[in-house]
Amino acid sequence: MAEIRIENLHKAFGDFVAVKNSNFVVHDGEFLALLGPSGCGKTTTLRMIAGLELPTDGAILLDGENVTFNRARDRDIAFVFQLFALYPHMNVRKNIGFPLLAQGVPAAEIRTRVEETAKLLQIDHILDKPVSGLAGGDRQRVALGRAIVRRPKCFLMDEPLGTLDAEFRDVMVRELRELHNRIKATTVYVTHDQLEAMAMADKIAIMNKGVVEQFGTPEEVYNRPATLFVADFIGSPGMNFIRFEGALQAGDRAIQIGGAPVAVPEIHETLTKGPRVLGVRPEHVRFDPASPLRGTVYETEYLGTTQIVALELLGSIVRARTGAERSFTLGEELGVTFDAKRLSLFDAETGRAVDTALMREKPVAVEPRARKTAHG
Ligand code: ATP
Repeated sequence: MAEIRIENLHKAFGDFVAVKNSNFVVHDGEFLALLGPSGCGKTTTLRMIAGLELPTDGAILLDGENVTFNRARDRDIAFVFQLFALYPHMNVRKNIGFPLLAQGVPAAEIRTRVEETAKLLQIDHILDKPVSGLAGGDRQRVALGRAIVRRPKCFLMDEPLGTLDAEFRDVMVRELRELHNRIKATTVYVTHDQLEAMAMADKIAIMNKGVVEQFGTPEEVYNRPATLFVADFIGSPGMNFIRFEGALQAGDRAIQIGGAPVAVPEIHETLTKGPRVLGVRPEHVRFDPASPLRGTVYETEYLGTTQIVALELLGSIVRARTGAERSFTLGEELGVTFDAKRLSLFDAETGRAVDTALMREKPVAVEPRARKTAHG
């Protein structure tokens, strides 16, 4: 087991900066998701941790040891790639045991470790089957078994579920998380899928154009996004953004939008007049006939237990998540209010979140996910 410490990690390809001064720590046994859109530098970061790419600057420490310039094979890390290339002519047992055979581990120990690994992955009943006839899920498990059997210090995974269809992906997301709960190996997992990251990770590093814009628990990045980019990237449907102009004064507890006062978490900094953005999650939009803030129903989306009501409000589309029982008609005018404590404010020019009572809220103690599942 291991702690991974990333210090001022920087990678340039010629003039192009792929990773810009990253700093984060993955504690022993933690599951970190590196999340962001295509080309933001996730894979490059992972490849540097693996030793497959040399950084331009900065350091990588594994359990306190500086491994920045160590070769990949000297790092005791298992890299699980998107494409699981199994040896088609070998059975499951031989596929899983192969890395140990290559290391010269005695046959009896290989047998024991392969059987332990197969039990952990619940594929012990197919150990002597050829891999060629296996279903997709079992192939993934065999490939994972090949990584686990080595008992590496940590796992690095690059979109391992990328090629799977949606339904099977959901199953594998749960399986991977349960497996992590059982073996508790430090894991860094690259994905562009926010739902996958939110479901699996203890911590998420959200990257944009080579920069880690926020590093925190799923709860932190969802409730207290540090930038407009993070606020937009996390959540489905995404956060609503309402632009306004205004000076912000430390101590203020309200802003003016469309001539109406809107209560917000207490502001802790003073900003001169400029373009700002109010950020509201759909579940924090409320309806109140007496509110001076008026919106008209633009479309509705029925989701069974809830529904999403899209409103035209001050020239923006604002989505509200509300109970499924109420019916709305298109064009209907509604008074709108927001849950004042949960609102985010951003400086539109820098994209940075304004310092407010929400941003200073103590993170809610997160239950270790291990306790949340039957296998925990
Ligand atoms: P994706 O999910 O598309 O792989 P990513 O976030 O993993 O995205 P990276 O693969 O890390 O992104 O790439 C980051 C940027 O660095 C991209 O613009 C990519 O084109 C560039 N890049 C990566 N490797 C090289 C290389 N060897 N030479 C030049 N540019 C590179």
